[in-house]
Amino acid sequence: MTDVVVVGSGFFGLTVAERLAEQHGANVLLIDRRAHIGGNAYSAPEPETGIEVHQYGTHLFHTSNERVWEYVNRFTAFTGYVHKVYTTHRGEVFPMPINLGTINQFFRSAYGPEEAKAAIREQAAELGGKEPSNLDEQGVNLIGRPLYEAFIRNYTAKQWQTDPTELPASVISRLPVRYTYDNRYFNDTYEGLPVDGYTAWLERMADHKRIEVRLDTDFFDASQDASKAAVVGQVPVVYTGPVDRYFDFTEGDLSWRTIDFEQEVLNVGDFQGTPVMNYADLDVPYTRILEFRHLHPERDWYPKDRTVVVKEYSRFAERGDEPYYPVNTPADRDRLGRYRDLMTGEKDVFFGGRLGTYQYLDMHMAIGSALSMVDNKLEPIFGGKAA
Ligand code: FAD
Ligand code: UDP
Repeated sequence: MTDVVVVGSGFFGLTVAERLAEQHGANVLLIDRRAHIGGNAYSAPEPETGIEVHQYGTHLFHTSNERVWEYVNRFTAFTGYVHKVYTTHRGEVFPMPINLGTINQFFRSAYGPEEAKAAIREQAAELGGKEPSNLDEQGVNLIGRPLYEAFIRNYTAKQWQTDPTELPASVISRLPVRYTYDNRYFNDTYEGLPVDGYTAWLERMADHKRIEVRLDTDFFDASQDASKAAVVGQVPVVYTGPVDRYFDFTEGDLSWRTIDFEQEVLNVGDFQGTPVMNYADLDVPYTRILEFRHLHPERDWYPKDRTVVVKEYSRFAERGDEPYYPVNTPADRDRLGRYRDLMTGEKDVFFGGRLGTYQYLDMHMAIGSALSMVDNKLEPIFGGKAA
């Protein structure tokens, strides 16, 4: 007997399913319309080389949340990988995010931290102390106009195809700017990659006698016995698919960006010497090149004469494309407000995850918010059923 249907087997759905099954003794039916579990965190070995490729773009795990770190370590150990990114601008390679190394290389200077801050402050002075209200102003405010125009403006234009004055300042607020030579991409306490790969981790989460996984099963396919029509109102549902799709787009489509991934196996042992190279200029149509072997330098079994690279091309998602990043324009936020009103009318349907809440969530955030949903919303329903 099914006690709860979880729609979507990404980190949000998996965490809810695992907790309800293990902690609360619930029988969980976990469905996904894709042919594999794990949502966008899924990875698989490239068949020719055995190199682990993250199928939906590089996924770097990082968190400062103790509870999430303790939880994820139940399912996997992590390598000591620390993410670093470089960017190519006018035929020259710079460290990213912007740090003292980037600043001194760009200005051909030898500034110390205080001198660099003073120089950037002067270049950011055009805002006259005004609070930045969009990505363009936030960029100039953070790093001054010359660095903004070199490293952010055109990359952002390629990635978002939206005028930076219409994008929220928060999009680049998550990129640190450092007045030291520290070029770690993330600031979090814990960071690493799953030692046996993402899929082993995801499978361990789903491997529970009270979890039944059904793949290739779309919640909106009325011929399925786990469809929306069949289960809503019958058993509690945790829904992590797109919120606008749930309500048949009645309030309009929420806009998303998708990415086209162009994968190649090259007959060289090392193509670019680093996992991620960004391309800051408009004359290169892709935003970045990923080289997956560099995520796992400890895997000495990877071939020495071949490598897998993936170019990322970003564009607006049409219906039917995979939605990756919420664009979040003011019109989207209006629509989302109306969908939120509709959600409150759906009794015993719990919306979560990046698609269900139309929010950018890193993996640790998806897991953390799933744990909170279990504590705050699902525990009152399932708490009495302890295993
Ligand atoms: P998802 O992983 O999107 O899972 C949702 C699932 O629901 C999918 O499997 C989908 O098939 C299923 N579904 C949807 N509709 C239906 C339906 N109708 N019926 C049945 N199933 C349905 N996070 C990091 O921490 N670090 C990173 O480096 C990082 N890089 C990223 C790079 C890219 C390109 C992208 C797109 C995301 C990245 N993320 C990263 C974010 C990470 O992928 C998310 O945090 C995570 O996927 C969130 O999990 P989720 O369960 O909310 O959503
Ligand atoms: N960004 C940029 N240049 C870069 C890297 C990032 O302009 O070299 C901007 C861009 O707008 C991007 C945002 O910073 O969307 C956040 O970067 P992050 O790498 O977190 O983006 P993601 O790839 O996760 O969208």
